[in-house]
Amino acid sequence: MTFDVVFLGTGAAVPVPSRGTTSQFLDIHGHTFLIDAGEGVQLALRNNKRRFQKLKGIFISHMHGDHVLGLPGLLSTMSLLGRQEAIDIWGPPELDAWLRHTWGSIQAHMSFEVKVHEWSPHEVQTLHEAGHYRLRSIPVKHRIPCCGLRVEEHSLPWKLSGQKAREARLPFHVRQALKRGEAIGFEGRALKPELWCTPPRKARSYVYSADTRPCESLRIAAQGATLLYHDATFNNADADRAKSTHHSTTTEAARLARQAEVETLMLGHVSLRYKDLDALREEALQEHPNVVLAKDGLLWRL
Ligand SMILES: [Zn+2]
Repeated sequence: MTFDVVFLGTGAAVPVPSRGTTSQFLDIHGHTFLIDAGEGVQLALRNNKRRFQKLKGIFISHMHGDHVLGLPGLLSTMSLLGRQEAIDIWGPPELDAWLRHTWGSIQAHMSFEVKVHEWSPHEVQTLHEAGHYRLRSIPVKHRIPCCGLRVEEHSLPWKLSGQKAREARLPFHVRQALKRGEAIGFEGRALKPELWCTPPRKARSYVYSADTRPCESLRIAAQGATLLYHDATFNNADADRAKSTHHSTTTEAARLARQAEVETLMLGHVSLRYKDLDALREEALQEHPNVVLAKDGLLWRL
């Protein structure tokens, strides 16, 4: 089962050749999504050999240009290439009117339906659920309404040994309980799932903080994540700037990752002003043992 994220653009507000504005390509169980659409996202997708005509949906975290300016162009190209299938877009309240106004002024006609859904800036919401995974929006703390995203697999069933179950003549409801990982009484005995089943592979989860100050809602939503991509726009020395611009520092990102017990922290949205990115990673390593730097073009398999 695929669960890949390709980091198309990992820089902050101003793009440079090595670090574009924010966008990520997600492939979960063969379904593909785009997370944010910074300027240049079409070329980033092409350069990374990712197909955009099959995208099921697009998540937009907030209305700052480095997260959204690539969207009208991308959708227009999809239309020029003859897309027919409707697309779901989840984003802030202003998004729908802005898109329609932009297309109106350049007289673009879309060949497919663009369904824009507003996420709530106040509560965690399930945006999309299919088969064995779901996408949930997480309100975070930025200068304007902003949401992060949690992508997670449902917990997987335990694998019951069919032969053992048949030999012991376990009835259906007992088998089902064991597959859910629950202990259950049967004929005066307590059956433990670990003696009857193989435990499942751990359900994986990816959390995207978007642009934010460290906040409680994100800490809760990031709990136990396999990978957390966190805003780390500034280093420790520039903590005041992080506060005044509603972003986070390396240390703040890593502290939240530690509190939320995430497996791996990825530092992203790093400001152009820093040339020595390893020094940023060193700061974060003081708080969390597993820190990687986001990089344009990086493919991460969860
Ligand atoms: Zn922003």
